Amino acid sequence: MNGSMMQQPLLISSLLTHAERHHGEQQVVSRRSEGDIHRYTYREMGARARRLANALAAHGVSFGDRVATLAWNGYRHMELYYAVSGSGAVLHTLNPRLHPDQVVWIADHAQDQVLFFDLSFLPLIEASAGRVNTIKVFVAMTDRAHMPVSAAVPGLLCYEDLVESHAAQFEWPSFDENTASSLCYTSGTTGNPKGALYSHRSTMLHTFAAALPDSLNCSARDVILPVVPMFHVNAWGLPYAACMVGAKLVFPGPFLDGKNLHELFEAEGVTVSAGVPTVWQGLLAHVEANNLKFSTMRRTVIGGSACPPAMMRIFQERYDVAVLHAWGMTEMSPLGTACTLKPRQLALPAQERLAIQAKQGRAVFGVDLKIVGEDGQALAHDGQSAGELLVRGPWIIASYFKGEGGDPLVNGWFPTGDVATIDADGFMQITDRSKDVIKSGGEWIGSIDLENIAMAHPAVAMAACIAARHPKWDERPLLVVVKKPGAQLTREELIAFYEGRIAKWWTPDDVVFVDAIPLGATGKMQKNKLREQFREHCLPTA
Ligand code: ADP
Repeated sequence: MNGSMMQQPLLISSLLTHAERHHGEQQVVSRRSEGDIHRYTYREMGARARRLANALAAHGVSFGDRVATLAWNGYRHMELYYAVSGSGAVLHTLNPRLHPDQVVWIADHAQDQVLFFDLSFLPLIEASAGRVNTIKVFVAMTDRAHMPVSAAVPGLLCYEDLVESHAAQFEWPSFDENTASSLCYTSGTTGNPKGALYSHRSTMLHTFAAALPDSLNCSARDVILPVVPMFHVNAWGLPYAACMVGAKLVFPGPFLDGKNLHELFEAEGVTVSAGVPTVWQGLLAHVEANNLKFSTMRRTVIGGSACPPAMMRIFQERYDVAVLHAWGMTEMSPLGTACTLKPRQLALPAQERLAIQAKQGRAVFGVDLKIVGEDGQALAHDGQSAGELLVRGPWIIASYFKGEGGDPLVNGWFPTGDVATIDADGFMQITDRSKDVIKSGGEWIGSIDLENIAMAHPAVAMAACIAARHPKWDERPLLVVVKKPGAQLTREELIAFYEGRIAKWWTPDDVVFVDAIPLGATGKMQKNKLREQFREHCLPTA
């Protein structure tokens, strides 16, 4: 017997309609590439998104077509999020930090029809416009006064002209909730990038789960500033969650340095932010150097790579900003776990609480986690046994776009490529990515633990731990370190710092100091590049 409730497809356009109706006066504030601050309301955003939907239709964008963006976080990008997916087309957020060759490769693979770009990416467009095969229309996301003249991009359209020349009357179409809504490529550190094609249904379910109090905890009382780019897994779902709950949104545009971010936090009363650890380093350095504080910011979500406990401590103890450690991946829309403490952990002494917060957290409802050993058998949730982490759930990919790479699932589970433990309370901790694990004498050494210890040293700005070849043990840990400006630190001092903090045989064998560690397009340390660089590194023998 079926239930007798209404059948309504879960569609992304409903988020915008809700925000307009119930939070119409709520503000969306953006720092624009043009340099100024733009401010409007969800009501105006809704009207402009409908104008844009009419413009897309007028330019031949039809159901299922891919519409690409190369854009920072801002209100125009937000309008595209809703106009494109809401019309039944697919929003493809290209990562502008990629090399032009990769951008061309991905745009061709996705068969993008239209490309919207922020002015700061004009050079990238000029380098790729003549080489992409399917893009027929290029649109500069600016007004007439700022339109560039570019011989390399014939027939360039102006975003504001498009919006203004079309009517705001538009009925968001209703269609199957399994229709594709947006497309995001993995960074492809190995092999070609692969696309994760999200659906309206998966996005909506992810949004409900992301907004929950023990997840990202979003509400109408929040002022959310996503530092995580809208081209990095849909800014972790915040552009959708903000509309669902009616939160004020603040977008930083291209200005992601500590000074600009802090000014925006203070000027707009930001309460929640989200980003990868490397971006917070810049912010904290600025705040510390200038003796500033956060007067409204109370929480920040940190994920994308492991958040060092030393960073959590500074945020929490010095600035009274709670850190929410979260984990996920492009293939998971991205949210998988969030580290919200239960009463038992909250009652622990501060130091032990911090150790729990260093874990990536508990499964968000909808995500099923398991860890398996090399034989594929499930391992105990004892906080000790480490194995490959597998996941399943309604916002996790079943296959890559165009079936690339074959069936990625193992008995219905998606292998994440991460190695993790899960404790009895369900807190999952990533010890490594399987390709970064250091295999010393047949035993695994988790590089993240070793990096976290180095990061707790006051002279260390950034640390990566990689496997170096060893004649007896196969691999041993080598620490690659960037010192804080002006700080003094020797190899011996840093190695001595590990004493009593970790099992003796995990202690790094060597330390090399470098000026910078290469970061990938989403701000993560590129350990594969470091491994390449230090392939011939000779470890000290004694
Ligand atoms: P890519 O790194 O290929 O760009 P994603 O951005 O989807 O892909 O990154 C997913 C990976 O990032 C995860 O599989 C995991 O290794 C790592 N990651 C994400 N969040 C965390 C975290 N909080 N702690 C440690 N690793 C994380």
